[in-house]
Amino acid sequence: MQQPFNRRSFIQKGLASAAGLSLLTNFGNDLFAAVQKQRLYSAPSDLQITDVKCAYIRNGHSLFVKVYSNQDIVGHGEAVDATPGTYYLVKMMGDRIRGKNPLNVHRIFEDVRRRGFFEGAQGGMYISTLTAIESALWDLAGKALNVPVYQLLGGKFRDNIRVYCDTASSREKPEIMGQRAKEVVDEYNFTAVKFDIDDPNDPNKYDPYNWTVGPAELQRMVDQITAVREAVGPNVDVCVDMHGRFDMTSGKRVAKAMEPLKLMWLEEPIPAENAEAYKYITESTSTPICAGENHYLAYGFRPLLEIGAVDIIMPDLQKAGGLGEAQRIANLANVYYVPFAPHMVASFLGAMASAHVCASIPNFLILEWQIYFHTNPMFKEIVNYEGEMIVDGYIPLSDKPGIGVEINEEGLKKYADKDMPFFT
Ligand code: MG
Repeated sequence: MQQPFNRRSFIQKGLASAAGLSLLTNFGNDLFAAVQKQRLYSAPSDLQITDVKCAYIRNGHSLFVKVYSNQDIVGHGEAVDATPGTYYLVKMMGDRIRGKNPLNVHRIFEDVRRRGFFEGAQGGMYISTLTAIESALWDLAGKALNVPVYQLLGGKFRDNIRVYCDTASSREKPEIMGQRAKEVVDEYNFTAVKFDIDDPNDPNKYDPYNWTVGPAELQRMVDQITAVREAVGPNVDVCVDMHGRFDMTSGKRVAKAMEPLKLMWLEEPIPAENAEAYKYITESTSTPICAGENHYLAYGFRPLLEIGAVDIIMPDLQKAGGLGEAQRIANLANVYYVPFAPHMVASFLGAMASAHVCASIPNFLILEWQIYFHTNPMFKEIVNYEGEMIVDGYIPLSDKPGIGVEINEEGLKKYADKDMPFFT
């Protein structure tokens, strides 16, 4: 471990109080030796970023970064979805932030974002890569200052973060979806579940490119979610995702047909680009309409919020710009009294990073959780953490310095994409 202090610099930096100096007189060099062996939380003003390295799993769709410093403190961050092909973006951003003090998270974020204005810094891979690095900076800063990330974000409104379970058992027969919904609620005590109803292989689709829901397809959707609602009863929230695979009139029809089922929300009935089209759907139905997992930055959410295009926003905090940007998005939504319900398809590192943001804002509704945390051992092997991931449908917020979850490099190596760099 690098030692930034020596006896002279320790005194010069004024970190020893008068009482401390008196102790020095008493204990002499032994105390200096002890100070030199301490972890280096006490020199934040001297922190510098030295390198950024990355690794990938899930065919490049999960990016893990480590931000290294000159004081042996490493920040861990994650991005998803818009990440295949981002290795050289990681390297470029690493070059741009090397030598900077990682405690200036907002400033570094803004420097990298503005410098990328002509490089695609409005969304996509550029912002997803920046998201992973920005999250790692919060982790690093928290470790350097010995506080959890939620504290850096201004403190917490809540200690436990409510989640809904994406069951990954969608596009099945209604009775199977109902059965699965009941199983996850009974087994894990989730208070909310989500199912997908878009099915590109539905034989009743008009053709593979047409986006209009037909009567048979619509009936299939209603039958599926009716089975889910009947299985879980009236007091468990049900969310339904259409993955942006329909046109506006279909979005209206599905939302209307779902009204008796009292959904928590209908998600992305249409693609992300047209806020006005969302507004037409939202205004046509009592089913709450939710979107945002394919929107980036507070700038991307402004049109949705400004015209009342959606009832609920669901930014993905592993791609929308980072934890600080997520807080800005949430606060912007709060001005319009719009709830904040983040999308989450990351590892437990990303889940806990998201949880810190969810704790720090008033208008948090619910965070996505994936059944794969319970069924796929990879998700336990690739991270290090203490305690329970989840208790009765809530994530207990970590009080450890930083995010409180780290990449387990040994575990990750087992699943890393073999043709991609691995923290090199
Ligand atoms: Mg979705």
